[in-house]
Amino acid sequence: MDEPLLSVRDLRIQFDTDGGPAVAVDGVSFRIHRGEAVGLVGESGSGKSVTALALLRLLPEPPARVTGGEVLLDGLDLLAADERELRKARGGRIGLVFQEPAAALDPVFTIGDQVAEGIRAHHTISRAEARARAVELLGSVGLDDPAERARDYPHQLSGGMRQRAMIAVALAGDPALVVADEPTTALDVTLQAQILGLLDRIRRERGTALLLVSHDLDVVAGVVDRVLVMYAGRLVEELPAARLLDGARHPYTRGLLACRPRLTATRGERLTTIPGRPADPRDLPAGCRFHPRCAHAIDRCRDEIPRLRSSSAGGRAACHRFEELG
Ligand code: SF4
Repeated sequence: MDEPLLSVRDLRIQFDTDGGPAVAVDGVSFRIHRGEAVGLVGESGSGKSVTALALLRLLPEPPARVTGGEVLLDGLDLLAADERELRKARGGRIGLVFQEPAAALDPVFTIGDQVAEGIRAHHTISRAEARARAVELLGSVGLDDPAERARDYPHQLSGGMRQRAMIAVALAGDPALVVADEPTTALDVTLQAQILGLLDRIRRERGTALLLVSHDLDVVAGVVDRVLVMYAGRLVEELPAARLLDGARHPYTRGLLACRPRLTATRGERLTTIPGRPADPRDLPAGCRFHPRCAHAIDRCRDEIPRLRSSSAGGRAACHRFEELG
């Protein structure tokens, strides 16, 4: 297989808190190839967003601290890059889409100016050319009457339109990878489907790789090629999205799948939940971090950290018992 676009190796991140160090990411490794879409899922606090933000060193340091690992993007070591290289990489190599566009868009500049600025930051072209390309880009992300929208300020757009505008800003530098962190969580179901469809179309038309971070397996399953599941800072399963339903082997992934609301649920029926609470990053359990919540835990699970091993579904799972659990 060709060289990966992004290679994350043994990434380790902790936060210094008053209650002691909190381990957020602990030895995470994965790769993304050009044009590939990968989903990173897990409950809140699993370390997925911290992993995504660390790729471009967007975590506040302190309290965050990268304590180990390597992030290579097309040969550039992002964890060792200087400020100038990082500025070029942000937007130029990796475009970022956040849950809340208000945090990413500047309220005092028009949408058109912000997209044009992003284009000029990474391409040597005139203001007029950048402006024309910005209008084109706003149209390609599905904004009606893009020339008119380019003159709007963020507060003049609806939530769905703002999300599309933020995606246009993320694409302005023609990045090879878009990282979208919970891009649809604040949207209603219809807008959610539209934005996911847009991200999927962008990937297919532009060949842009996608890292889609979400707590919602259903959100990622329809858009990505591969799913990575995180729990308590570790990668516990990786498998092709097409095998998610029949190929998930790790009890945590299966728990997440069982928690999804069912269309056939009857009125008043309670949603299934994974028992217990997510692990406290300041006091992580020994052995398998999922063992206090796992119905299949045995003595070995309390002592020995399970490593990722190949599963029959074409993926890998970090569970001592996944073969016998079937
Ligand atoms: Fe459960 Fe043990 Fe597997 Fe962890 S290693 S998921 S505790 S069976």
